[in-house]
Amino acid sequence: MSKKDQKKVKRQPVSSLKGMNDILPADQPWWDRIRKAVKEIAGFYNFLKIETPVMEKLELFKRPLGDTSDVVEKQMFSFKTKGGDEVVLRPEGTASIVRSYIEHGLSHLGQPLKLWYEGPMFRYEQPQAGRTRQFHQAGFEIISSDNDPVYDVQTMLACYRTLDDLKIKNINLQINSIGCNKCRPIYRKNLLEYYKNKEKSLCGDCKRRIHTNPMRLLDCKVSGCVELKKEAPQTIDNLCSDCRKHFKKVLEYLEELKLPYMLNPLLVRGFDYYTKTVFEIFAEGFDFALGAGGRYDYLIELMGGRQSPGVGGAMGLERIIEVMKTKEISLGNRVRPKIFLIHIGDTAKKRSLVLIEELREAGIDVMEQLGKDSLNAQLRTANKFEAPLSLIFGQKEAFEQSIIIRDMKTGAQETVPLKKIVAAIKRKMH
Ligand code: AMP
Repeated sequence: MSKKDQKKVKRQPVSSLKGMNDILPADQPWWDRIRKAVKEIAGFYNFLKIETPVMEKLELFKRPLGDTSDVVEKQMFSFKTKGGDEVVLRPEGTASIVRSYIEHGLSHLGQPLKLWYEGPMFRYEQPQAGRTRQFHQAGFEIISSDNDPVYDVQTMLACYRTLDDLKIKNINLQINSIGCNKCRPIYRKNLLEYYKNKEKSLCGDCKRRIHTNPMRLLDCKVSGCVELKKEAPQTIDNLCSDCRKHFKKVLEYLEELKLPYMLNPLLVRGFDYYTKTVFEIFAEGFDFALGAGGRYDYLIELMGGRQSPGVGGAMGLERIIEVMKTKEISLGNRVRPKIFLIHIGDTAKKRSLVLIEELREAGIDVMEQLGKDSLNAQLRTANKFEAPLSLIFGQKEAFEQSIIIRDMKTGAQETVPLKKIVAAIKRKMH
């Protein structure tokens, strides 16, 4: 192909990956608002922030989440590095936090240790409403030497209050207890007994799950399986006395706080590491969960740490934004208006560079368009951004060390000496 022909070939722009979205400037105020809420709630309840890498060793998630969990079986973004390490883009936060807790001996930071995090997670799923391949979670974890049910409630409360703070009304907290290593095997046996003669009526997935992870049968949404599970034995009727006592206390504390909840005996959750309390949080009118979590009393031991029970919950930020937008919840935090600096001519342009710095130091937010020379273009931008005041800095003003302040609503103009500009702006803005 000649050079001339090459020039004619229109290059195909590269698009983003399926299920991985940009967060464009117009959406940033939503993200800022949510992150602010999570940070404030975490601060109030004394959670410490932790950040872990987005990439971890594959083995970190395999056993804790469970080889037969959907995430490990089908949804891991895993690959080999050039050095031959098997790595994965993290699908969730808890395992990484526990790894970090053990690796850095974080137990010395406090008992209980309360941690919070926020960041992107990755699951190779079929994108659909409320489900993407890169999504963001904010979560709370409480790790302690004892498994006081008050921590279960504090975790749920932190999630609940975050949604409250974002003005999401009619939150539906669903809760269940799935027992511990003592009572769960007995429950599993009862469950298998119940399904023994019903296997042929199950969907393909459940036919497989019944041999690998029978509790996941309670999670199935296929209509035949939904019918069958209505009569299935419930975890809650099979709890040992320890788990029963624990769950009773959790409900008592929720009632004391007047946090409305709903018992959902079919709630089991997707990861193996959960024990005792599990929960999911919904918003009225949406069938996807905004948040979910539960207790993990053996996870730290399983991952090589000293026996320390924990409990945590994570919320999906994209889903929260979707609910807020659909319910037309206002962000409430109007952007502070900025004043607009208009320059005319080279000298004013050069001096504007310093003037902007002076205004910044004085705490005045200023917008400029130093790359545009036309007065009209600059005025148009000032109007578009609804700047309450414009500063007009022309050749004459630059020479005389003065500047024009223009009230953009009334059009009234006043010339002030440059030295007095900060005081003059402050006077007009209040
Ligand atoms: P999980 O880690 O599966 O317990 O999920 C906790 C929360 O993360 C869910 O309630 C959702 O809000 C959110 N979430 C999980 N998976 C996705 C996904 N693929 N896309 C968007 N949000 C998700």
